[in-house]
Amino acid sequence: MALLQCLRHDSAAYGLMERVAWPDGPVCPHCGARDRVRRLGGSTGPGTWKCYDCRRIFSLRSRTGFHASHLPLHVSLQAVYLLAASRAEFSATALAKVLGVSLRTACQLKQRARDMMPWLAQQLAASPPGPREIAAWAQPAPWQDPPQRAQPGWACERRFERFMDALAEWRQAQPDAAFLLLLKALSSPPQEVAAAPPALADVGLGEDDTLQLELDFGAGAMAGHVPPDGLSRLGAQLPA
Ligand SMILES: [Zn+2]
Repeated sequence: MALLQCLRHDSAAYGLMERVAWPDGPVCPHCGARDRVRRLGGSTGPGTWKCYDCRRIFSLRSRTGFHASHLPLHVSLQAVYLLAASRAEFSATALAKVLGVSLRTACQLKQRARDMMPWLAQQLAASPPGPREIAAWAQPAPWQDPPQRAQPGWACERRFERFMDALAEWRQAQPDAAFLLLLKALSSPPQEVAAAPPALADVGLGEDDTLQLELDFGAGAMAGHVPPDGLSRLGAQLPA
């Protein structure tokens, strides 16, 4: 499966993000257990897990840069890919159109991606993931189930077509590598148990603004991370 196919629907997107965030298999964020951790099926949606040691439920998103996003994960990943492949040159208007997000959200996304570009350029020059590593990321890990035969809805398929069309116009080098580097940065678990990210009310955000934060790479969620330089600034850019 090509890496881009992982951005087609949520089940595949969670599969990819789980591999990136948990290279050695799932870890309970509450108690650190690894062995008695199982994926929940049924109506819980992709990406929901239960730890049978502490009996708590967790989602991969809960400790990543996507924490604050209300968008389906595959849409968030499509945004990251477009911005990575275009080195944040993709226009906000087009981003809003292609992905069906608000223009304001698209502008914020683009700005945040721009802030990460110096770091990304440095990483691409220093240690870019090679073709074999990229191919490996596109396949299920040994601890993952084979991908389900998902049947994305019409709107989902149309969005993916728009995404692929938009992507065809960007021919920057190493799009997969750039995407994976950004995804790794956004998926990294906290390096230490840090203070909880500030509640939105604490940073003076109204309900309306909360919506605009839906796809901002979860700046609030990044607050407890020890990210690379470009990322650390994101937390400080929450609108006051
Ligand atoms: Zn646990």
